[in-house]
Amino acid sequence: LFANVEQAPRDPILGLNEQFNADARTTKVNLGVGVYFNDEGRIPLLKAVRNAEVARLEAASARGYLPIDGITGYNQAVQKLLFTESSPLIAEKRLVTAQALGGTGALKIGADYLKRLLPNAKVAISDPSWENHRALFENAGFEVVNYSYYNAATHGIDPEGMLASLNSYPAGTIVVLHACCHNPTGVDLSAEQWAKVVDVIKARGLVPFLDIAYQGFGDGIDADAFAVRQFAASGLSFLVSSSFSKSFSLYGERVGALTIVTANSDETGKVLSQLKRVIRTNYSNPPTHGGTVVATILNTPTLRLEWEDELAEMRDRIRAMRTALVEKLKARGVQRDFSFVLAQRGMFSYSGLTSAQVDALREKHGVYAIGTGRICVAALNNQNIDAVVDAIADVLKD
Ligand code: PMP
Repeated sequence: LFANVEQAPRDPILGLNEQFNADARTTKVNLGVGVYFNDEGRIPLLKAVRNAEVARLEAASARGYLPIDGITGYNQAVQKLLFTESSPLIAEKRLVTAQALGGTGALKIGADYLKRLLPNAKVAISDPSWENHRALFENAGFEVVNYSYYNAATHGIDPEGMLASLNSYPAGTIVVLHACCHNPTGVDLSAEQWAKVVDVIKARGLVPFLDIAYQGFGDGIDADAFAVRQFAASGLSFLVSSSFSKSFSLYGERVGALTIVTANSDETGKVLSQLKRVIRTNYSNPPTHGGTVVATILNTPTLRLEWEDELAEMRDRIRAMRTALVEKLKARGVQRDFSFVLAQRGMFSYSGLTSAQVDALREKHGVYAIGTGRICVAALNNQNIDAVVDAIADVLKD
């Protein structure tokens, strides 16, 4: 049966992690990961999470199956986080939300549902994008193309290129957009650029699928939902995948959600019934723990405040590391202007380092980054930043 099976290529990022773990140097630093570490270099267990877990243990609740679309209180909290409590979309019953297995699971059930709805559509993702976007939509049966997004020369957006790409697509093309904290570049659209993107998508009849995996990591919970709310205001129907892996530091619990914005409550009921079929045949229903913890936090005022403080602490620490990186590189005598790092948002930075420089960082200094030059700013801390700055200064000299 398996005699002719070929070895699949290993995941590039997980492969890098394996290499990092095998590296014996004590001074090694892993900036290749997609995880937030605190200043002690550890993945934090948030106090709000801890408190919600204690309450859950004390309640000693049974672990029956959840409904196919998950916990109602969780799904409602997700909607409020995305659109605010007073959103007309909630009042008009134009939202379908299903608890999902992380952001990846939300994208997957969204992709499977869209394949049933629009079997001949293409999917457009940003150039570059989170590396799983292409594979995930291809595995759901779609042809995937890239729209112009990043301009390496300016370390910013290529706004004309992006609009030209969008304008070239036939109606019904699915456009995957990073709502905030773009992975891997860290470069987000401005409010004006979003407005133009919404206009083109509306004019051409494209299907927006917003991926929000870092809400609260950029400028704040509401500021980071700007794009989602612009689309809500446009009157369009669209999809949103939420991930709480980073914002609750609950990576392994797989907490996310798919939200679909419909045109009216009649559509909502029908779309939910179809989405449930997709979920039922994938994994039947979601797990209880992570969803219960997140719902408890979002729906309990004291825990909610505690979480918002901890989220702000993570956001502020990342931004402090951006500033420190730029200032220390300058103080170290590096001529290149790295101030673009301050304008980037979220965990990542396209540093502008070449793949040869990334190789040198790893081989000479034990500093691990992705070959594209992506570094995880959220893995920098006051203990490792000087070594990273020295290493970058060294490889830029060559
Ligand atoms: N979308 C983007 C843009 C991401 O960066 C990630 C996680 N790295 C995900 C989705 C998936 O999130 P999760 O880990 O919750 O599946």
